[in-house]
Amino acid sequence: MEKHLTLALAGNPNCGKTTMYNALTGARQRVGNYPGVTVEHREGDARHNGHDLTIVDLPGTYSLTAYTPEELVARDYIVERRPHAVVNILDATSLERNLYLSLQFMELGVPLVLALNMMDAVRKQGKEIDTALLAKRLGLPVVETVARVGGGKRELLEAATSYAAEKTGPWEPLKISYGPDLDPVIDEMVTVIEKNAFLAERAPARWVAIKYLENDEQVVKMGGRNDAETDETLKKMAEDVARHCRSTLKISPESLIADYRYGYIASLMKEGVVRAVRPQARLQFSDQLDKVLTQQFMGPAIMIGILYTIFYTTFTLGEIPMGWVESFFAWFSDMASAVLPDGMVKSLIVDGIIGGVGGVLGFVPLIMVMFMMIAFLEDSGYMARMAYMMDRVMRAFGLHGSSVMPLIVSGGIAGGCAVPGVMATRTLRSPKEKLATVLTAPFMSCGAKVPVIILISAAFFDNSASVMFWTVLGGWAAALVVAKLLRSTLIKGESTPFVMELPPYRMPTLKGLLIHTWERAWSYIKKAGTVILGISILIWAMMTFPGLPDHEVANYDAKRTAAESTLSAEALETRLAEIDNMESQHALKNSVAGKIGSSMESVTQLAGFDWRTNIALIGGFAAKEVIVSTLGTAYSLGEVDAEEAEGLSTRLAADPTWSVATAVALLVFVMLYAPCFVTVVVIARETSWKWATFSVVFNTGFAFILSVLAFQVTRAVMGG
Ligand code: GDP
Ligand code: MG
Repeated sequence: MEKHLTLALAGNPNCGKTTMYNALTGARQRVGNYPGVTVEHREGDARHNGHDLTIVDLPGTYSLTAYTPEELVARDYIVERRPHAVVNILDATSLERNLYLSLQFMELGVPLVLALNMMDAVRKQGKEIDTALLAKRLGLPVVETVARVGGGKRELLEAATSYAAEKTGPWEPLKISYGPDLDPVIDEMVTVIEKNAFLAERAPARWVAIKYLENDEQVVKMGGRNDAETDETLKKMAEDVARHCRSTLKISPESLIADYRYGYIASLMKEGVVRAVRPQARLQFSDQLDKVLTQQFMGPAIMIGILYTIFYTTFTLGEIPMGWVESFFAWFSDMASAVLPDGMVKSLIVDGIIGGVGGVLGFVPLIMVMFMMIAFLEDSGYMARMAYMMDRVMRAFGLHGSSVMPLIVSGGIAGGCAVPGVMATRTLRSPKEKLATVLTAPFMSCGAKVPVIILISAAFFDNSASVMFWTVLGGWAAALVVAKLLRSTLIKGESTPFVMELPPYRMPTLKGLLIHTWERAWSYIKKAGTVILGISILIWAMMTFPGLPDHEVANYDAKRTAAESTLSAEALETRLAEIDNMESQHALKNSVAGKIGSSMESVTQLAGFDWRTNIALIGGFAAKEVIVSTLGTAYSLGEVDAEEAEGLSTRLAADPTWSVATAVALLVFVMLYAPCFVTVVVIARETSWKWATFSVVFNTGFAFILSVLAFQVTRAVMGG
C-alpha cells in the first residue's frame, strides 16, 4: 500500500540533523521560512519502499517549552501540522542530555523514532549502547546512525516509514510521574480538561495540564482565548500547587517537572542502556591487578623486583650497543692517530675532542634503553603505582612519590646515571619537589663512580661488595638528608598533596615508546655536540698546557738516548715506558690543572688529598671515570682504565701518602662532590643555571666537609 508520509527531523542543535537531512533527501531540497518568524524551514523529498516522503528539517531545540522561537516553531509544527512521525536525531555521545527532548515528544504522544547518531564517536569512546533495551523500555523504534557517512539511513527510513504507516490512530502520550505533589493536581486538571474538551484538537489533556503547571505563555494565552472559564480554573489550580511547592520544597513546578524528567532518564540509564564497555572491562582488570601490585607487603616487594629487573636489563642490554659506540670511537681515534702528524693538533683531536665527545656519546645507548624502560613503566600506568607506594617515605624527606624513579635511575642501585635520572624528574609536577630531586639525584652511585669505588676498595678493604653496598646506602642517606635540609631551608614550601591518580593499566604501544625514547636521546646528543665538546677541549687544555719547558723535554730525551745506548732490547722497553710515565707526570704537575691541584693541596690535605688526587678530582668533573685514568697518570702508571685498576690499587696501597683514612675520605668525596659536567648541563636545562651552579658549589662544599670529617675521624680511630 503506497502512501505519502511526512517525517519531521527534530533534535538538539549540532546533533547531526542537517547532515542526516542531506543524506536522506540528497539534492531534492526546498528552503523557506516559517510564516511570521525568521527561523529557516527546509523540506525535501525522498522515496522509500513505495512511499513518497516529505522530510522536514526542524530547527534544533533542547526542549519543547515556549522560551525560544526555535522551540515554538518546532512545537507548533508538530502540534499543528501533525507529521506522520517525528524522527528524533540524538547525539548518542551525550545520550542522557539528548533524551530530555525525546521525552517531551513522547509526552506529546507523536509517533517517534529515535536515531542514535554519532555512533562512530560513541564507539571511539569505548562505550556501547544497548539499542534494543532502549527501544524496549521506551516502546519505540531506535536506530543507530552515522549521519556523516550516511550510515544507518536506510534502516532509519525503514523504521520511520513502517512505524508511521502503522501508528495512524490517536497519539499515545507517555505518562511520567511527577511525584506526590504534582501527580494528584495533574489528575484533577486532566479531568477538568477532558470534561470541557479544552484545547482538545491541539494536544493531549495531560500535556496541556503540564503546560499550565509550567506556566507556558503560549498555551495559557491560547487557552484563555479558547475557553476563559476552564482557563481560570486551571490557572487557579496551577497557582495553588506552585505556592505549595515553593513553601514545602523551595522549588517551582517547572523545576520539579524538569527534575522528574531527568530522574526518569537517569533510571533508564541505570538499567544499563549505556555501558562503558572497554573502560569498565579495563577498570575491572586494573582493580584486580592493583590488588596484587599495590598490596601492602607484596607491592613493595614486586616493585623492588621490577626495578631490579629493569636496572639489570638496562645495563646488560645497554652494554652491547654501548660497546659498539665505544669501539667505533676507539677505531676513529686510532685512525685519527694514524693519519694525523704528532703534535698539539693530534692531541687535541684525539684526546680532547674524540675522547671527550666519544665518552659522552657512549652513554647514548644506555640512555635509550633506560628511557625505553621508563617510558614503558609510565605508559603502562605502573609508574603512578610506584609513586603511590613510595610517597609516604619520600614525603618525610620533603620529596614526592614520583622522586623514586629519578633517584633509582641516577644510581639508587649501583650503576645508574644522573643524566637520565635528572631528566626523569620531568614526571614531577611540583617545581619545589622536582628541584629537590634534581639536586639530590647526583648523590647516587652512578656507573662512573663504580670503577672508583672498586679501585679504592680493592686497595684498602677486604670486602669490595660490602664497600659497594655501604657506598650505595650512603648515597641514599645523603640524598634524603640533603633533600630534607633543602626543603626546610632554601626550597621551603608545602608538599604537593599527592593526588591519587591511578589511571587504568594500559599496554603501551611500541610507536609511543620509540617516540618518547628518541625525543630524550636526541636532546642529549645535541648537547654532546655543543657544550660538552667545549668542556672536553677545556679540560684537555688544562691538563696539557703549558707543557714542559724545552730544557726539561731535552732532559727526558737525553735519558732516552742514554737508555737506548746502554740497555738490552727487553730492559729498554720497560725503561722507556718508565721515562714516558715520568715525563707525563712531570708535565701534568706543570700543567694548569697540576698547578691548581698543587695550590689546593694545603686545604685538601685536611681530607688527606695530595695534588695528584686533586687533579684527578678536577678531571672527574668532566666525567667521574676520568678520576681513575687521571690517578693512573698522576701515579706514573700511564693510561689506566677500570679493568686494569688492579695495578693502580696495589700502587696506591703501597704509597706512603695513602691510608685507609684517605681511602674513606676519597670515597665520601667522590660520592658527593660536584656532579659531572654533563649532569650539570642537564640540571641547568631542567631548572636553571643558578641551580646548576648551586649544585656544583654546594655539593663540593658538602662533600669536602664530610670527607674532612671522615678522614680525621678514621685517622683518630685507626690511630694512624
Ligand atoms: P545540526 O545542528 O543538528 O544540523 O548538526 P549538523 O548536521 O550541522 O552536524 C553538526 C556536526 O556534527 C557537523 O560537524 C557534522 O559533520 C557532525 N556529524 C554529523 N553526523 C555525524 C556522525 O554521525 N558522526 C560524527 N562523528 N559526526 C557527525
Ligand atoms: Mg542544522
